[in-house]
Amino acid sequence: MLTVRRLNSNLTVVSRFIRTGSTFTQPSDQQSPNFGGSRPSLARLHHIQTVLRPQLRLCHSASTVTSLPDMKITLLSALEDNYMYLLTDEATKEAAIVDPVDPEKVLKAVQEEGVNLTTVLTTHHHWDHAGGNEKLVKLTSGLTVCGGDDRIGALNKKVGHGDEFKVGNLQVRCLFTPCHTTGHICYFVQGDPSEAPVVFTGDTLFLSGCGRFFEGTPDQMYAALIEKLSKLPDNTNVFCGHEYSVSSLSFALSVEPDNVSIQKKLEWAKDQRAKKLPTIPSTLAEEKAYNPFMRVGAKSIQDHVGSTEPIEVMGRLRKEKDNFKPKK
Ligand SMILES: [Zn+2]
Repeated sequence: MLTVRRLNSNLTVVSRFIRTGSTFTQPSDQQSPNFGGSRPSLARLHHIQTVLRPQLRLCHSASTVTSLPDMKITLLSALEDNYMYLLTDEATKEAAIVDPVDPEKVLKAVQEEGVNLTTVLTTHHHWDHAGGNEKLVKLTSGLTVCGGDDRIGALNKKVGHGDEFKVGNLQVRCLFTPCHTTGHICYFVQGDPSEAPVVFTGDTLFLSGCGRFFEGTPDQMYAALIEKLSKLPDNTNVFCGHEYSVSSLSFALSVEPDNVSIQKKLEWAKDQRAKKLPTIPSTLAEEKAYNPFMRVGAKSIQDHVGSTEPIEVMGRLRKEKDNFKPKK
């Protein structure tokens, strides 16, 4: 049973809403919440997302806080379309930061939230993810910098598939997902076993998409998405590295024009982006409903690309996406 915690009082909350993008795959969420009228039972809510004071002149998306009973994830926008995530164990206030490309912004959030930052979780070596590591370790002593690639700046804890460690009471499991880069790691985080876990997927899995195969092959992306990420619990919240959702869903719709999950999510994502709100997180159950790269076994996708061999389907889909230009 999920409950909702009061948020840190020093955060400026400008509005409050319940994430509705997942309503069509989360049976417990199917009633639209309405804080203006009769208050919904909190037990029905999957989680609460709060929008922090947006500085929209300076960033592509407002910061949001996703509050689960055992952990809190603060989304921080960076660069043109990147996301960094401050993950806090609610019980101990120990925190980790995922891909801190903008160290000053990270430290401001750490200070505002009053958490103890101990760990950097780096998904891969690309500058827009790992480029802030060195500065951050200079500004904060004693950080453990995790990653799966020697090209990652300030790396002091190299991790591999299945490695586990803790951030406070939260258990972090490393999933080796090479393809976008040869050393890409996704981080699966579980607190209380009765609560929904989360996964930080960097540039391997995007909402309704996947990363380009810069250093890998279709069979590696198949292994990452189908054999590893798809095996995690369906209620896992997915936090990816970029805001690409409208473009990715537009591509998904071109592949499966009759897929209602894609139609609904695209409409919702466009609405979110018009308000400069993020579309993150999704859930793995949702990805299985609308992400073509997670659906390479589906007949509609196989018919579209003209192959019934899932790895071949993966490769053909990625090629098609590389050349896809959404209609204006
Ligand atoms: Zn990348």
